[in-house]
Amino acid sequence: MYINGSWREGDAHFAVHNPATGELLAQVAESTPEDVKAAIAAADAAFNHWSETTVYERSALLYKAYELMLAEKQELAHLMTTEQGKPLRAALNEVQYAADFLLWFAEEAKRVGGRNIPSVRAEQRFMVLQQPVGVVAAITPWNYPISMLTRKLAPALAAGCTVVLKPAESTPLCAIAVFKLLEKAGFPAGVINLVTTSTPAFVGELFCTDKRIKKLTFTGSTWVGKHLNSLAAQHMKRVSMELGGHAPAIVCADADPHHAAKGLGLVKFLNAGQACISPNRIFVHRSIYVSFLETMVDRTKKLIAGNGLQTEISIGPLINEAAVIKLERQVEDAVAKGARLLCGGKRLTGPTFDAGHFFAPTVLADVTEQMDIYYEETFGPIAAVLAFDTEEEVTQRANDTDYGLAAYIYTQQFSLAHRLMEKLNFGIIGINDINPTSAAAPFGGMNASGLGREGAEEGIQEYLETKLCGYLI
Ligand code: NAP
Repeated sequence: MYINGSWREGDAHFAVHNPATGELLAQVAESTPEDVKAAIAAADAAFNHWSETTVYERSALLYKAYELMLAEKQELAHLMTTEQGKPLRAALNEVQYAADFLLWFAEEAKRVGGRNIPSVRAEQRFMVLQQPVGVVAAITPWNYPISMLTRKLAPALAAGCTVVLKPAESTPLCAIAVFKLLEKAGFPAGVINLVTTSTPAFVGELFCTDKRIKKLTFTGSTWVGKHLNSLAAQHMKRVSMELGGHAPAIVCADADPHHAAKGLGLVKFLNAGQACISPNRIFVHRSIYVSFLETMVDRTKKLIAGNGLQTEISIGPLINEAAVIKLERQVEDAVAKGARLLCGGKRLTGPTFDAGHFFAPTVLADVTEQMDIYYEETFGPIAAVLAFDTEEEVTQRANDTDYGLAAYIYTQQFSLAHRLMEKLNFGIIGINDINPTSAAAPFGGMNASGLGREGAEEGIQEYLETKLCGYLI
């Protein structure tokens, strides 16, 4: 734990394991309610001074953190692969993405201003101030264990807020590494605080009920997000919710099926499918369905699973046994209801895999609405593919989900792409683009995928309160 500028060991601990090998990596402090309250008290005590620092001071510290993160890129990526499992190249990309938020908000800090509004009364003026909301509580997931932290910490700190953060229990070592780096950058005691635990419910409850916390920012499952949001609502706290997804991908008749299969395969199997923007239903126009599937299966069979520290590995383990069991259930259910299993479909076994949690990269064809995978977030390496006939049909089917985070479109027709973009109810749309994300672009979802946006100028607004001052001259 990192509380009020000091590292604390704690009396009890929980184990952190490598998901590829099962190896015990570390024992991490199990926070008590007193530790969490101490962290909130430290953030509260530090708030006044921190919020009064100039944006230039805050920017300089974030910039320093950015430089340190780039300098430690290799070590951080190595740790991430060991703790979370993604291949080293993907981990290096994530560290870069994480650092991008530090840089973007180091700059964005300087662009927070207010505005003047004219009045109908000659002697009246209106001034709008933007001020930090106060102490922020942050809860983060394990699938992007460094970038999900900086996507919250950087804008909160830039705005002048202090923070208490609870990372996922599977990836606290990445969080500790980020906090060591922020400490080295020189953030004052109490401004950033870290509490680790394997029993998160009490932390969530304290975050939502303690009067000193003014804002909760959460990234994780929709189920937990709804629970925390309802708790926070009783105390009228501001919330940002970055939740689950069920992205449709639409491959139109005019698209090159091989190019689309290549792109969608890359984004589908990224992080072993454990991404909120992973395509969950791939709709392919019937006229190119067979060619698309051929390329998708061919490329999927070539993926090499294993320990992400080895250079030839393109797909790592799942985070835990429960994830493997969920995928086995989804495949069994789909096949029983008529899906064609074209490759994979089972856990990987053998000396390389038995100590970890590996699932074979899988392609299911002819998926229908009757199957669990059609509506349930997969969060694993299963590409669920189905054919469509008309624009109207695919628009209706793509929108047939409670979620609304990301969607993908492959077409060369501008007007078709534009119509689909307008009609799809998702916060992020990639058109012939499998990576429509950047620290400079607003990331977030509609409906059950959450509330608010991270990154971009919207990202800092989540941590600012608006104050109106009307006055006579
Ligand atoms: P999760 O189970 O909801 O956990 C997320 C975080 O919440 C973890 O730190 C977890 O702690 C904590 N948590 C769980 N129950 C809690 C409670 N009652 N009170 C307070 N905290 C609680 O989700 P996950 O499995 O880690 O992450 C995967 C999900 O995140 C997927 O649905 C994915 O789509 C979503 N996600 C969304 C985005 C986005 O930007 N929209 C980005 C990444 C991931 P423990 O680890 O100890 O359980």
